[in-house]
Amino acid sequence: MDYINCKNCEGEITEDSDFCPHCGVLLRGVGTLRCDTHPQRISSGVCVICRKVVCIECSKVVKGRTLCHDHEKVEIRQDWALAFQSTEIGDSELVKAVLESEGFQIQVQNFNSVGFVWDGGGDSPISRSNISKPAKVFVPIPEYIEAVGVIEDWNSSQTAEEAEQ
Ligand SMILES: [Zn+2]
Ligand SMILES: [Zn+2]
Ligand SMILES: [Zn+2]
Repeated sequence: MDYINCKNCEGEITEDSDFCPHCGVLLRGVGTLRCDTHPQRISSGVCVICRKVVCIECSKVVKGRTLCHDHEKVEIRQDWALAFQSTEIGDSELVKAVLESEGFQIQVQNFNSVGFVWDGGGDSPISRSNISKPAKVFVPIPEYIEAVGVIEDWNSSQTAEEAEQ
């Protein structure tokens, strides 16, 4: 398989791709695909998260990436999508462990609270800045939907366990 670079984002893609998985632009030229929601309309791109084919009305371009309206709010950093965040670092640690046990690749942000000891709700600038920064768990963009599903399943099994007790 030959690799080429996307003209829009310069990401590496296979030569026979219909769209760029990194940014969602169509590679075979506009007009080759129709919007999934509006079959009469020519599509403008593909949502990089769910791979839905979208027209201009059905999509939003965020930092050069095409996203459908369901996913336009998902935080994306490079090729990673934010699957979970919490100001309770313990929750984020748990979700990270759950995803890792399912074989997901993970990137985290704001987990570096080493040395930070919660002092029981003090009003110091340190505790405030730690509260305002949620610990974030990122997964590769193509695995976002699956990861969110795993987190939801995990969440509902936790809730079920609590109900049984
Ligand atoms: Zn691209
Ligand atoms: Zn989408
Ligand atoms: Zn549309």
